Amino acid sequence: VYVRKDMRGKELQKIFPALGTINTITLYESFAPEIAEQVKKRVLDLHRRFSLFEQGSDIFRINEQAGIITVPVHPDTFFVLSHALDYGWETQGAFDITSGAASRLWRDAIRSAQIPSESDIAGCRSLSGLTDLILDKADGTAFLRRNGQQIDLGGIAKGYAADEAVRILKKYKVHNALINFGGTVIAIGREQKMGIQNPFQKNGESMADVMVKNKAVVTSGSYERGFFFEGIRYHHIIDPRTGRPADSELLSVTLIGDSAMELDALATGICVLGEEKGLPLLEKRGIEAVFISNDGEVRITRGLQRDFF
Ligand code: ADP
Ligand code: MG
Repeated sequence: VYVRKDMRGKELQKIFPALGTINTITLYESFAPEIAEQVKKRVLDLHRRFSLFEQGSDIFRINEQAGIITVPVHPDTFFVLSHALDYGWETQGAFDITSGAASRLWRDAIRSAQIPSESDIAGCRSLSGLTDLILDKADGTAFLRRNGQQIDLGGIAKGYAADEAVRILKKYKVHNALINFGGTVIAIGREQKMGIQNPFQKNGESMADVMVKNKAVVTSGSYERGFFFEGIRYHHIIDPRTGRPADSELLSVTLIGDSAMELDALATGICVLGEEKGLPLLEKRGIEAVFISNDGEVRITRGLQRDFF
């Protein structure tokens, strides 16, 4: 999602790259640059712990030591890893942070617009497995059982960071703010109009709008990154069961709820799992949703009717 009408007027905005995206913190009325700075600092810390690519990050070390030795990790990392596993089980393995090898394979494929070989796909697919990530709470360590296995927090990290940003803002009694971490958005205080990207149009063209207040909104979309080959679209949301881009008939899943981390993981998972299997998970947790399917049809959950147009 993106913010349709960022209420102008007195505001302070901080924009910076982290977590593989562009992040924006907007504070209204209260001009407290040092609070925005604290939030930014926190997000950069999380980036340094979660990054796949930065040598020495917790995730980098877990991956580097896969099949070799347990790795002590920061409590932030431990928290996200253990919740990610929970979401994994809850989505029947559709959301799977241990599918990092397959994610990397397809990330490279998208970059070069070339389909990987069948043997590479099969090899990467066999490397995912929720039971292979061993978390030891008492020791604060993580361990991947098998050589070559890879954790990838790309489907959940922005959500956790957004929740943390809100926690800090609340601590400082900031009542009006907007967090936008690469389309993972939380509106605090005032109501905001969010545009749901039209998957068939260029960025910034909305298919529908939702009004959001004191809620998080997260979109996961297969239309975002990918390429076409012989009429088939290949993209960055991977079905861990096949080791290939998900094919659930959904182009995008937008979720509205309280925890951005939960929404982030479930949005990615439901892109894989599909609408029918996803709905019961959302109902149970009081999460509203907008689904856009391959044929451009838009469906919303009942609780959203008043705020959707
Ligand atoms: P984005 O906003 O970057 O599109 P998403 O929340 O949709 O993020 O997650 C996509 C990212 O999550 C991928 O780039 C990859 O790093 C990772 N990923 C892909 N497939 C899965 C999956 N089935 N389970 C968990 N993580 C995944
Ligand atoms: Mg996600």
